[in-house]
Amino acid sequence: MTFRSAYLKLTAIYVLIVMVISIAFSVVLYQILTKELDRGLIRQGEALRTFPPSEFAPFSVTAFEKTRLDQLKESNNHLKINLIYFDLLIFFVSAGLSYFLARRTLKPIEEMVDIQNRFTVDASHELRTPLTAMKTEIEVGLRDKKFNISDAKKLFESNLEEVGKLETLSNELLALAKYQDMDKLPFEKVNLREVVNEASGKVGSLAKNKEIKFDLELTDVETSANKQSLIELVGILLENAIKYSSKNSKILLTTEIRDNHAYIKVQDWGIGIKASDVPFIFDRFYRADISRSKEVVEGYGLGLSIAKKIVGKHHGKIEVESKLEQGSTFTVTLPIL
Ligand code: ADP
Repeated sequence: MTFRSAYLKLTAIYVLIVMVISIAFSVVLYQILTKELDRGLIRQGEALRTFPPSEFAPFSVTAFEKTRLDQLKESNNHLKINLIYFDLLIFFVSAGLSYFLARRTLKPIEEMVDIQNRFTVDASHELRTPLTAMKTEIEVGLRDKKFNISDAKKLFESNLEEVGKLETLSNELLALAKYQDMDKLPFEKVNLREVVNEASGKVGSLAKNKEIKFDLELTDVETSANKQSLIELVGILLENAIKYSSKNSKILLTTEIRDNHAYIKVQDWGIGIKASDVPFIFDRFYRADISRSKEVVEGYGLGLSIAKKIVGKHHGKIEVESKLEQGSTFTVTLPIL
C-alpha cells in the first residue's frame, strides 16, 4: 500500500466518523424540533378552542387544525432540507480537514518508513560489497586451470577477510537494532574508571599494532548506568581514535565529574574531521570522504550511531570537537544518577 492510498483510506475513515456523528445529531435535532413545533401549535389550538370564533379570531377550530397540520408539514420539510444542507456542508468541510489531518497523522510514520527503507538499501549495499568480492575471487579461482593448493590458501585467506567484514557489519547492525528496540537498559552502580579501563583493554591489541599509547587521566566517577553498553561506547570511540590516528601517536582518556555531571573524553591527534562532515558523522552509514578514500581505514559508518544510541539511553549527550589534520575530541556527558 502506498502512502497516497493510506492518506485516502484514513481520510475516508475520518469523514465516515464525522458524518455518522453529524447525521445522528441531525436526526436527533429534527426529532426534537418537530416535536417542539407540534407542541407549540397544539397549545395554540387549545387556546383557540376556549374562545368562540369572533371578529378578532375568525378561524374555527377545525380550520385551524388543518392549517396547523399544513404548517407543521411545511416547517418539517424546511427543517429537513436545512439539515441536509448542513450535513452536506459538514461533509465537504470534514473531507478537506480530514485529508489535512490524515497527512499530519501519517507524516511521522512516512518519515520513519523512509528512514527504514534507506537503512535497508544502505545495509544491503554494504552486505553486497564483500559478497561480490568473495564471489568474484571464487569464480576466477574455478576458471583457473593451474589453480593449486597455495592459490587455494590465498583464496581462503582473502575470503576469510571478507567473512570477517560481514561479521563486523552484522554485529554492528545487531547492536544498532538492539539499542533501537530496547526501551530501557538495566542500570546498576558503575564506576567510569572501570568502564574506561575495560574498554581500553578490549582494544589494546589494535593500539599495540599501531604502536599507539593510551594516556589515562581517570578519576573515580560513580553513576547509575548500564556498564556493558558504556564499555561498548568507549570501545567505539577508542577504536575510531586508533583507526583515524597515525602510527606512534597517543590517545588521551579522561573521566571527570563537574556540575553533577560525569564526563568521559577521548582525545586523539589523528586525521581530524572536516567541519562540513561533523554534523553527519552520527548518522547511520555516514563516513567522511577522507576515511572512504583511504582503503586502510575500514568501517561501515555505524559505530558513532550506536554510540549516540547508547548515550541517548543514558539521557546524556555526545559532542565532538575536531580540526582537520590536528585531531578530535569526543566528549560524553552523563547525568549523575
Ligand atoms: P566508521 O566505521 O566509518 O568509523 P563511525 O560511525 O564510527 O563509522 O564514524 C563515522 C565517521 O566519522 C568515520 O567514517 C570518520 O570519517 C569519522 N570519525 C569518527 N571518529 C573519528 C576520529 N576519531 N577521527 C577522525 N574521524 C573520525
